[in-house]
Amino acid sequence: MSDTPSVENLHAVRAAIGRAASDSDRDPASVTLIAVSKTFPAEAIEPVLAAGQRVFGENYVQEAKAKWPALKERYPDAEVHLIGPLQSNKAREAVALFDMIHTLDRPSLAEALAKEIRKAGRAPRLLVQVNTGEEPQKGGVMPAEADAFLAACRDAYGLTVEGLMCIPPSQDPPSPHFGLLNTIARRNGLSTLSMGMSADFDAAIQMGATHVRVGSAIFGGR
Ligand SMILES: *Cc1c(COP(=O)(O)O)cnc(C)c1O
Repeated sequence: MSDTPSVENLHAVRAAIGRAASDSDRDPASVTLIAVSKTFPAEAIEPVLAAGQRVFGENYVQEAKAKWPALKERYPDAEVHLIGPLQSNKAREAVALFDMIHTLDRPSLAEALAKEIRKAGRAPRLLVQVNTGEEPQKGGVMPAEADAFLAACRDAYGLTVEGLMCIPPSQDPPSPHFGLLNTIARRNGLSTLSMGMSADFDAAIQMGATHVRVGSAIFGGR
């Protein structure tokens, strides 16, 4: 019996991650693959879980809430990461649901998350999103404001931020954006870099990505 296409794709993406890591003299285990399952139903996610993938990305709180509690009952070690924008009024649900939030990008959200983390006694790992292309329609702090925002997260809100995330403008070569994110992370003593998607995860790994977010190359077109 042959694997479902998503499972074949998963193996191919894992192999490509391994090659990109070796090409950069990096340990493949230093790169975490986040399988982005947004818009795909639980039945499409299940075979990928059964094939051993354990880290998934979702963009919407409501969608994740509808799909993941049942899947996590069957796969208790599965992790779900929020990679889409988060409204402050969904902070409570997000703190309850997600293992990592990649899109912290403003003081009001930092305040809301800090409050809900205190109440819940549970803290998702946190990344600050940086708008490396300074695109008005995109989330993320401006690169020039990143250091001050990171300091505020720590000092004003008591949050532990582990790293940074970016989504380069679709029309740009991505590597300079990945390089900029890496530079901001280093000067702030941060070790986690969420960058790279289906089209450019190999370039991101070359530039130091620790987490790549791959959707369509695994699950197919949306
Ligand atoms: C949808 C999405 C991805 C995955 O994109 P693909 O091109 O399908 O790999 C990665 N990151 C973010 C923030 C996304 O919204």
